[in-house]
Amino acid sequence: MNVLVINCGSSSLKYQLINSDSEEVLAKGLCERIGIDGRLVYQKAGLDKEITEASMPTHKQAIQMVLDALVNDKTGAIKDLSGIDAVGHRVVHGGEKFAASTLLTEEVLAAIEECNDLAPLHNPANLIGIRACRELMPDVPMAGVFDTAFHQTMPEVAYMYGLPYEYYEKYKVRRYGFHGTSHSFVSKRAAELAGKPYEDLKIIVCHLGNGASVCAVDHGKSVDTSMGLTPLEGLIMGTRSGDVDPSILEFIAQKENLSLSEVMDVLNKKSGVAGMSGVSSDFRDLEAAMNEGNERAKLAQEAFAYRVVKYIGAYAAAMNGVDVIAFTAGVGENNDWIRAKILANFGYLGIHLDEEANRSARGIDQVISTPDSKVLCLAVPTNEELAICRETVALVG
Ligand code: ADP
Repeated sequence: MNVLVINCGSSSLKYQLINSDSEEVLAKGLCERIGIDGRLVYQKAGLDKEITEASMPTHKQAIQMVLDALVNDKTGAIKDLSGIDAVGHRVVHGGEKFAASTLLTEEVLAAIEECNDLAPLHNPANLIGIRACRELMPDVPMAGVFDTAFHQTMPEVAYMYGLPYEYYEKYKVRRYGFHGTSHSFVSKRAAELAGKPYEDLKIIVCHLGNGASVCAVDHGKSVDTSMGLTPLEGLIMGTRSGDVDPSILEFIAQKENLSLSEVMDVLNKKSGVAGMSGVSSDFRDLEAAMNEGNERAKLAQEAFAYRVVKYIGAYAAAMNGVDVIAFTAGVGENNDWIRAKILANFGYLGIHLDEEANRSARGIDQVISTPDSKVLCLAVPTNEELAICRETVALVG
């Protein structure tokens, strides 16, 4: 069957049409600047990208343009809309309500809406995309695939914060974790590459992209992860600070005369390796700057790697061991310098890096540890769209 995978943000929307039998991408692209002016990027498999500047005042109009492109006489991937058998939507926050993907009904949409408080930037945008799709394709079954669902197996000791218990009872303040679709996909693939049953392994997945998180997967279940109530906690990221002493918020607010929401904006958008280096949030720019002698670009990358080291160490302790460490997402899949920097700290776990294999691992599944390494280390490309497609097919049948 053909599954349209939709990842809808507040002003952009990414899509892929995937044939679930061959797992081939038939067409993909994105809508940008929705509600501002509008640009559609569309690419049919095997053809060049087409870019169309066109007014997209609403998400419904953006999705209509995607559907028109998909059935276009010349470059469409399908003849008509009956060629779309199901739609899989990425939903960022499912709170405690959703421990698995689910078919989208009005009841489910209302339950997702109740999670809006927990992800005010993401969930409302996801819902707008879902509702627009339901209006345009009322008879097509749709699934919601949650970033948080995979982590609902975490034990209480991992998800509770050291805060007054009533905040959990009243507002559900706890660790949820994100990137769940990716952590699930990559940990399963890592078990396949290890040639062992998923349920027998202790796996640490390092999803290192612009957003970044680490996840401990013990016998097939997420038991801890570095992002928290929101994606701000944990690793140093492209522009997010990750873990900081909470007192810094008040300190900076006073010194810089900023409101709490302005400080949060700094922590989310102006911190991370971008804020530390003053160069860029993009690791390619940081690497180039470092190679030209920029000390802060070097520091930012080293601090980034050091934080990953700390989380791997913590999760190896939490699981009482680790069999596999997998690196994924833009940096994890491509940046051999960062991977080598991180793994250099684990001689005590019996990890030996295969330097040549590490250098050549770029965007492919590859073992990067030596055969005598006690922990199998891997680079594994993530594919969240394919994971959403598979989840959708499992629900729709
Ligand atoms: P997100 O999906 O969170 O926006 P990505 O997973 O695309 O992020 O990761 C973006 C990061 O990955 C950037 O810092 C970028 O420099 C890095 N990256 C992406 N592709 C490559 C590549 N081919 N070589 C080195 N770094 C890359």
